[in-house]
Amino acid sequence: MSSPVWHPFTQHALTTEFPLVSRGEGVWLETDKGRLLDAISSWWVITHGHRHPKIVAAIKAQADQLDQAIFANLTHQPAEDVARGLIEIAPRGLAHVFYSDSGSTAVEVALKMALGFWKNTESKRGGKPRTKIIALEHAYHGDTVGTMSPGARGVFTAAYAPFLFDVVRLPFPAAGREQETLDQLKVAAKEAAALIVEPLILGSGGMLMYPPEVLRAMAIICRRNGALFIADEVMTGFGRTGTLFACNQAGVSPDIMCLSKGLTGGSLPLAVTLCTREIFDAHYSEDRSRTFFHSSSFTANPIACATARANLEIWRTEPVLERIAALGAMQEERLARFRGDPRFANVRRLGTIAALDLKVADPGYLSGIGLRLMEFFMERGVLLRPLGNTIYVMPPYGITAAELDLVYDAIAAAAAKFV
Ligand SMILES: *Cc1c(COP(=O)(O)O)cnc(C)c1O
Repeated sequence: MSSPVWHPFTQHALTTEFPLVSRGEGVWLETDKGRLLDAISSWWVITHGHRHPKIVAAIKAQADQLDQAIFANLTHQPAEDVARGLIEIAPRGLAHVFYSDSGSTAVEVALKMALGFWKNTESKRGGKPRTKIIALEHAYHGDTVGTMSPGARGVFTAAYAPFLFDVVRLPFPAAGREQETLDQLKVAAKEAAALIVEPLILGSGGMLMYPPEVLRAMAIICRRNGALFIADEVMTGFGRTGTLFACNQAGVSPDIMCLSKGLTGGSLPLAVTLCTREIFDAHYSEDRSRTFFHSSSFTANPIACATARANLEIWRTEPVLERIAALGAMQEERLARFRGDPRFANVRRLGTIAALDLKVADPGYLSGIGLRLMEFFMERGVLLRPLGNTIYVMPPYGITAAELDLVYDAIAAAAAKFV
């Protein structure tokens, strides 16, 4: 009997085999078709490996205490602790923490905070609120209608195009073209409510990287021209780019910052949107029309928050940044063999993330090679999910050298087979 499950981002006419996962441990997933090395951290969420003992213990302990509680009017210790913990480690100036449950909702909240800020401050001054959002070419900020709007438009969004709001689109700051991006931002930021960016690396857009100086320049232009600066660190947060947050490398303090994937170490869904005092204060009033009108049923679920608290504790007590540096170095060593290889282009790395493009006749996300590559890797016991012809390796931080070799041997074998 065929399964009633409809899988995400899956064309069921082309993908018919779904290995049944029953167990995770470190970088490994056990399935009924054999072991899989999780080289993409289960869609970029798992940071310390599957089932880190402190994460598992936190889930069990919290499940024994409090499962769920409405978060309006009530609060609870795990949420209070995580909020304080995050403010301690976040870029300076971020002072408030709003909970939600996925990267997309964290971004929705960020956009609503920015628009609410302008509505509330301008109505006080009697002016017209800024409403435009600026975003980058190739951006990805989520799959809800609100977050698809600043995201890149294409085959993914075509059916919903009439419902997406217009944004000011900046060219991606590719090497040699950074000034073009900054010049266009200078014009747009004078009237825009906010710029939203994925700092240093555009994930779903194809692991496209740009340098910290450009991120810093963008933040400065926003500040000078009054536009809010939103850092979508949903993927980059919690160490992926080599530092705790990507913004750290640029010395940038965003007005709003979104976190989700690595927040619980990847075990449970949870997200936060951090903002400055100014943005909170713009909503602070005895006038109830200025309330921040957003919630979801499971906002700040206690078990998810306790898991995030355990993650923060792991960051405080274990040498996570050292592991990240070691992984970065291991990735770099293994990329070396592909750098001069004519079958590959754009061999690149940022922190723990390595990416390279297989040269094919039809590059891009829908490149026929993507699915064939994924199936090839799965057959070899390696979970990689290329973005079209872009192969990227984003494993949990504890991966060993020998395990990483399995991944790169699979990539070499794929090149031998397909190019
Ligand atoms: C994954 C991602 C999102 C969306 O997060 P979900 O939890 O999948 O909704 C948003 N922004 C960025 C940069 C992401 O990588």
